[in-house]
Amino acid sequence: MQESEAGQLVHCADCDDEIVSGRERSYEYSEEGEICFDCSIRRGGVYDEPHDRWAVAPAVRDLLEREWAGEPVVARHHIPGA
Ligand SMILES: [Zn+2]
Repeated sequence: MQESEAGQLVHCADCDDEIVSGRERSYEYSEEGEICFDCSIRRGGVYDEPHDRWAVAPAVRDLLEREWAGEPVVARHHIPGA
């Protein structure tokens, strides 16, 4: 039995495909969030092959907002009796 040392299996936040983090090209937009290469390209990302980095970051605002929405947010207004 062999366990891969590098490579953590994550799911693309967009299409739910499996990504082997650290091995496959993907775009990490937050600590938890990551999207696969295909989705990154579809979202306008441009990968800089020679430098092994994203030259143009994919547009992930909606995914970030979704992530923020999933976080426990401290209510700004107390609603009495609600
Ligand atoms: Zn994807």
